[in-house]
Amino acid sequence: MTVEQTLSDLVAIDSVSLRSNEAIVSYLEDRCERLGFKTHRFPHIDKDGAIKTNLVACTESEPRQIELALVGHTDTVPYDPDWTDALKLSERDGKLFGRGACDTKAFIAAALTAVGEIEIDKLTKPLALVFTADEEIGCLGAKRLADAKPFTARYAIVGEPTSLRPVCAGKGYCLAQITVRGREAHSAYPQLGASAIFRAARLLGRIESIAGQLKNDRHDDFDPPYTTLNVGLINGGSAKNIIPAECHFTLEWRTIPSQKSDHVLYMINRVVEDLRQTDPDFVFDIAADRADESFETRSDSELVSFMEGVSGKSSSTVAFGTEAPSMIALGADAVVFGPGDIRVAHRTGEFVPVDELERCVEILQTAIQKFCG
Ligand SMILES: [Zn+2]
Repeated sequence: MTVEQTLSDLVAIDSVSLRSNEAIVSYLEDRCERLGFKTHRFPHIDKDGAIKTNLVACTESEPRQIELALVGHTDTVPYDPDWTDALKLSERDGKLFGRGACDTKAFIAAALTAVGEIEIDKLTKPLALVFTADEEIGCLGAKRLADAKPFTARYAIVGEPTSLRPVCAGKGYCLAQITVRGREAHSAYPQLGASAIFRAARLLGRIESIAGQLKNDRHDDFDPPYTTLNVGLINGGSAKNIIPAECHFTLEWRTIPSQKSDHVLYMINRVVEDLRQTDPDFVFDIAADRADESFETRSDSELVSFMEGVSGKSSSTVAFGTEAPSMIALGADAVVFGPGDIRVAHRTGEFVPVDELERCVEILQTAIQKFCG
């Protein structure tokens, strides 16, 4: 089967994150078993009752110490119902269009094709294909694997559209829900209440100053070269003539690798202590829901230098979340790499260039021979 045919099969299987990934996992399991891999399922029931499975296909019967893991997520973001060809791979001008064609079924198709052309029983070190669930909704499948630790890995190539440039560092992603409390009262008598919205506004002004302070701590490989933060949602109050009792907002921040994920929380707590000097009743809750660590793989790692050499491109960084930190938690030096451009992912009409897809097959074959041959 050609890599295009495999990609066409994968795109035809609807695997948006809200559905169970059973269908695509069964397809991948069948393909891998035909190639002589031993497969292991790691199922999980998600919060909506759907089965989400991580699949590990390994050249050894028990995946314990993997030398090289090729990692691809099985899920995709949703597609617009008006995109009638979303599940039908179509080619135009050297580009293959379809939901997931770029992110990240192209990498999976390339990995399957690469292993299909290698005599796997001649490999001297364990090779694994790792197919994860629920990457698009928070890398949940990879995090479950990292928690369960069914294997360790020495090197991991994590498939994501990077235009075939190795990526060896990524920012972390953290999210918190903040609630500022006040005291309700008739708005004609402000002295009887305390406005949660005015309090939130004072806190937000200080958070904007924190964003400014974060610019002093630089990591020049990133664009922008510092930890960024954003308040994306805010709501509060119940009526125009009621002094508001509550104001809620979200705070997300993306950390550079030299900074701990809780550094911003620490700064916010200090600011709140300061606000309490003049407003002792300042009450707020912060629920830090998510803290995905940043990652940075040593530039002298054999995997980084190999991927730079074989791709002909120097390594780079990304500001979006990937499964690389989970692979690092499993012991691996991790590089994010794959065909297609992240800027066309998650859009109607996402595509992968045919030449990059085919080149990825060759690069993965060379990587398998180098690390497992
Ligand atoms: Zn992806």
